[in-house]
Amino acid sequence: MNFNKVLDGIKTYEAGKPIELVMREYGIKAQDVVKLASNENPYGVSPLVMASIVGIAEKMYMYPDDSMHVLKEGLAEKFDVNTDEIIIGAGSDQVIEFAVHAKLNSKAKVLMNSVTFAMYEIYAKHVGAEIIRTSSREHDLEEFYTLYKEHKPEMIFICTPNNPTGDALDTEKLKEFLAKIDDDTLVVVDGAYMEYAAFKDKNKAVSAKELINEFPNVLYLGTFSKAYGLGGMRTGYGIASKEIISAFYKLRPPFNITTLSLEAASVALKDEDFVQDSIKKNFVQMIRYESFAEEEGLEIIPSYTNFVTLCLNEGQNSSEISLSLLKKGMIVRDLKAYSLNAIRVTVGTERENSRFFELFIEATNK
Ligand SMILES: *Cc1c(COP(=O)(O)O)cnc(C)c1O
Repeated sequence: MNFNKVLDGIKTYEAGKPIELVMREYGIKAQDVVKLASNENPYGVSPLVMASIVGIAEKMYMYPDDSMHVLKEGLAEKFDVNTDEIIIGAGSDQVIEFAVHAKLNSKAKVLMNSVTFAMYEIYAKHVGAEIIRTSSREHDLEEFYTLYKEHKPEMIFICTPNNPTGDALDTEKLKEFLAKIDDDTLVVVDGAYMEYAAFKDKNKAVSAKELINEFPNVLYLGTFSKAYGLGGMRTGYGIASKEIISAFYKLRPPFNITTLSLEAASVALKDEDFVQDSIKKNFVQMIRYESFAEEEGLEIIPSYTNFVTLCLNEGQNSSEISLSLLKKGMIVRDLKAYSLNAIRVTVGTERENSRFFELFIEATNK
């Protein structure tokens, strides 16, 4: 069968390998599999959220509340914005899709970092847009601006902190950059890990309210999948001017997130202690990775997230090392596909991290 030609240029997105698959392929028991590949919150789910889900289960025969009123109110309060400046997606992934489809077509250009979240490219390819990339591994706003002037893209993706490198931009520098961009260029600021960055360094904290009030062409993205511990609930959001959000609404399928997701996310917003406690533990554990990298003589990119990127040395191959870790039940992310000889490791619990250190040494001292 012939398909839309744009599919020829798209590689299927490889999500972090699921635990079940590793168990089946390598015959490893569930309790021996450690997944440090998708940047989930290793401390699980807030007990408040779990309790609320049980209560809502009897409602699942009905379609969800498509106004998403309770969740939007919760987000409006958290970010101090209006509910008509918010759109909820099945993960912030879906909001990226809305943004791309709202703004780009096969004659349009989109600018993004050389190494960044893979879904930007995939959605841009859906519509046949031309992708312009920087050359530097971490975001370099001067290079972004040079390319912006040269290509005049309709859309720009800024991921801060960036996945899969973990680096974050200074808010003031970001704002200086945004001030130079034309109002008709949609700039997406993806803050999937913003809670971590804001905790580690106030200079990296981006306020969605300030951004959208100062820059009517900016879309801020957030998610419940990372610090909020709800990766399985597929809930994210976009915050932007009413004009942008109204355009996205034309693309949104009805009932795009479930009753359980709405409930879980709304309640998660009320348990900020759980989130902050998880973030604190994350950075305590991250120090262990920094020491480990030093001991092993590896470059570690300073990270403002819940993952670290370990750049391997010559003679070490990220694909081989990832595979030998996988065979022992340790799932990490090989960054070969991003042209980096590096692995990305989610900072797990104390026990999970100790296991990683042990298995990494085994995998490299052959
Ligand atoms: C995880 C992630 C997202 C989206 O996650 P969802 O689960 O779809 O909300 C978006 N951007 C980046 C950079 C991410 O790492």
